Amino acid sequence: MEKTFHMTSQQFRDAGKQLIDWLADYYEQVERYPVLAQVTPGEIRTSLPSEPPASGTDTQRIIQELDSKILPGITHWQSPNFFAYFPANASEPSVLGDLVSSGLGVQGMLWATSPSCTEVEMQVLDWLAKMLALPEAFLSSGSGGGVIQDSASSSSLCAILAARERATGFRSNEDGCREELIAYTSTQAHSSIEKDVKVAGIGRRNLRLIDVDADFAMRPELLEKSIEEDERARKLPFFVCATVGTTSSLAFDPLEAIGRICKKHKLWLHVDAAMAGTAALCPEFRQIQRGLELADSYCFDAHKWMFTNFDCSCFFVADRATLTRTLDVLPEYLRNQAAASDVVFEYRNWHVPLGRRFRALKLWFVIRHYGVEGLQFHVRRHVELAQTFLRWVREDSRFELMAPAPLNLICFRLKGADQMNEELLRRLNRSGKLYLSHTRLNGKFTIRFCVAQTRTELQHVQQAWDAIRKEAESLLAVAHP
Ligand code: PLP
Repeated sequence: MEKTFHMTSQQFRDAGKQLIDWLADYYEQVERYPVLAQVTPGEIRTSLPSEPPASGTDTQRIIQELDSKILPGITHWQSPNFFAYFPANASEPSVLGDLVSSGLGVQGMLWATSPSCTEVEMQVLDWLAKMLALPEAFLSSGSGGGVIQDSASSSSLCAILAARERATGFRSNEDGCREELIAYTSTQAHSSIEKDVKVAGIGRRNLRLIDVDADFAMRPELLEKSIEEDERARKLPFFVCATVGTTSSLAFDPLEAIGRICKKHKLWLHVDAAMAGTAALCPEFRQIQRGLELADSYCFDAHKWMFTNFDCSCFFVADRATLTRTLDVLPEYLRNQAAASDVVFEYRNWHVPLGRRFRALKLWFVIRHYGVEGLQFHVRRHVELAQTFLRWVREDSRFELMAPAPLNLICFRLKGADQMNEELLRRLNRSGKLYLSHTRLNGKFTIRFCVAQTRTELQHVQQAWDAIRKEAESLLAVAHP
């Protein structure tokens, strides 16, 4: 047989087994690494040859370079001591599902190009809708359904596009947008909404940022006032994004009140529950989504808190026909018999890209491995750990809480100057023992502590609190000798 450069089947078996071992070791030993990468900008790049390799090498050598050159520049999101931002928690079943997806190499742009890719996704998203007790309308058996997008940013972009078309009788798609469309969200909404209105051609100046109450939740009376002002000015209010769990402080917008206003004024309501949506797996936390039946679309990221490695944003619509009519373009080369029928979803009409990976497979692996019970167990455990941390902060008079903390995010600071809190955060992150991030609430520099890593246990939360107190003591000793 003619020599080729491909990996042989035997080499693939050996290297694959070795790499699964490599990952299993990594998970077991992840606490040995500094959580936040300790490299300087450019350090990793300059450690790699500037010229591409003329000849290939064996996997052994590749793994050695992975260890020596790439691992030092990794911030360990899977560390149990990662408490920063919002999580991107992975799990072994999810990694295995993703591996199978990569191996199958399916491009599921049409139902016909891999029926399982479409139908598993339809079914798993229906499962999820039931697991989270989402309104019936979001199920594929009704008028709606769910789809996996790469990110919450893309999900809300699709919601804005569908809302734009609904509001303009699908004329914007044909002639460009002539009306002055106005979108609304709160001052605490994620920055992706601003980006999306820019991408959708709405214009940043046509996004109204509605003020929030003392708990950082949108004030519905101000929303309605703003809509009415725009209506009087002959503008076209068309879209509201409410947040279930804001990024800064995990605030919950009042969906019922906002939803009623949207119905009254005929606006599309999109609900962004990027991280906190996962909490609805547990009945006792479902009050966060009260009023969701008034929403036109909803999104939560399984890639944040549901043990499914990035990317896996789950986007649901109550009326799929509006979304698919918005995004449908059918060139001759994609026509096929199944596409012409109404029996299956053609997911290419549910998002911007045509091509799609088999992302439902990792979700399927996760749900089959954990079951609803297992997922509920771990979500409850995270909330419990966060609530323990909350109690410790409350009991220490040197610290103050900066926002309500009903779930797994605690926003706190040392009483005193911003500078001292900035230094506290810098020292903790530089230590490599844990990783925290910050925000600004009521004008004050605030530290965020989010518990949602797959392997975080009480001992990690305890170690984190010990480290925080120790650094705080040394800072306070200098400030008040
Ligand atoms: N919405 C909220 C509330 C978020 O917290 C985030 C990210 O943290 C996003 C949207 C954006 O998520 P993605 O990275 O999936 O676009």
